[in-house]
Amino acid sequence: MTLRTLETLEVEGKRVLVRADFNVPLKDGVIGDDSRIRATVPTLRKLLDGGATLILMSHLGRPKAPEDKSRLGPVAERLSELLGQDVRYLPTSGPAADEQAAFVAEAGPGSVTLLENTRFDSRETKNDPALAKKLAEYADVFVNDAFGAAHRAHASTEGVARLLPSAAGLLLARENEVLSKLLANPEKPLKVMIGGAKVSDKISVIETMLDLASDVLIGGAMAYTFLKARGGRVGGSLVEDDKLDLARDLMEKAEAKGVTLHLPEDSVCAQAIEAGVQTEIFPSDEIPDGWLGLDAGPEAVKHYQAVLQDARTVLWNGPLGVFEMPPFDTGTRGVAETVAGLEAYTVVGGGDSVAAVNAAGVAERIDHISTGGGASLEFLEGKTLPGIAALSG
Ligand code: ADP
Ligand code: MG
Repeated sequence: MTLRTLETLEVEGKRVLVRADFNVPLKDGVIGDDSRIRATVPTLRKLLDGGATLILMSHLGRPKAPEDKSRLGPVAERLSELLGQDVRYLPTSGPAADEQAAFVAEAGPGSVTLLENTRFDSRETKNDPALAKKLAEYADVFVNDAFGAAHRAHASTEGVARLLPSAAGLLLARENEVLSKLLANPEKPLKVMIGGAKVSDKISVIETMLDLASDVLIGGAMAYTFLKARGGRVGGSLVEDDKLDLARDLMEKAEAKGVTLHLPEDSVCAQAIEAGVQTEIFPSDEIPDGWLGLDAGPEAVKHYQAVLQDARTVLWNGPLGVFEMPPFDTGTRGVAETVAGLEAYTVVGGGDSVAAVNAAGVAERIDHISTGGGASLEFLEGKTLPGIAALSG
């Protein structure tokens, strides 16, 4: 199965319906981080330069019904600044509302129209054929650039792609290319650093990577589930007690496959997750009661940095500590700088990991930053994403 790219689509003089991922953080109508909007601009530019008229759509948040705080108005404004042209937008009760349809019908050649939040229509997440049909009626062809939503079979991602000539946008195509190569044919040694909050989120990725990687470096809160499973004392650190068997099983599988699974030897600990609290370094498997492991310690960071040195490919998903709050950002920052400086081909995925890489100021030196949190993880688990399957053939 190959993904159909923009080159396969005739767009000159056509109405092109584009599914983008404009699911940006919004607070009081102000966009916190516009990277997702910027990420899809090259695709929109290319389509406009090719003579298309654009009808754009996206979800924003998880509204169950129309609500003012999830309207796409602020996105339309920001996008019009980025494109340097007006972005038509009408607040409506949903993407298929009568006023919305009338507004789309008035779109002139070369114009850009943004539909209201797709999730205002409860049929969206059910992949209801009636909604997909309505959306398809707005345009001649369909482009999906919403990699971050590609793991969902929704009317605006999967359903509509089956009804119109369709192709992947530049962002989605690049994600597909990089992540496919990482799974199928990575330059070796491949070293994988997995951190973050929960083992349960990332267990399947670790499992897939045991067949590809020489080393798996575990960090963040989930390291403590592994450490406890190995018999360590982890104090009050975050542990998923119902995942201890799974962690043990993964450690055995790693050993059987000859993959080295690394755990942080020491941790920066505190008695509460608060700015300015007193911290102490303890061995990660000898954390006293009442203390929480909140960051990789200096020995662990040195060890992880050393292991990464000879990698040819690096995949990093999940921060090594509570990076949002100094001083617990030190470990994550330290490895971020190391990853950025490597000769290896480097891929970073996960919403918080990408934020950490941005905070460390090293994003430009990472080869590929994956924009989809859940979508990247499911892709790396080896699953077929429905949004991508619908554009392949
Ligand atoms: P990503 O979004 O990159 O996939 P996750 O969402 O899995 O990453 O994990 C990020 C979260 O994990 C952050 O909010 C961070 O504060 C938290 N975290 C990391 N290490 C710890 C720890 N030792 N204790 C508690 N929370 C942690
Ligand atoms: Mg996260």
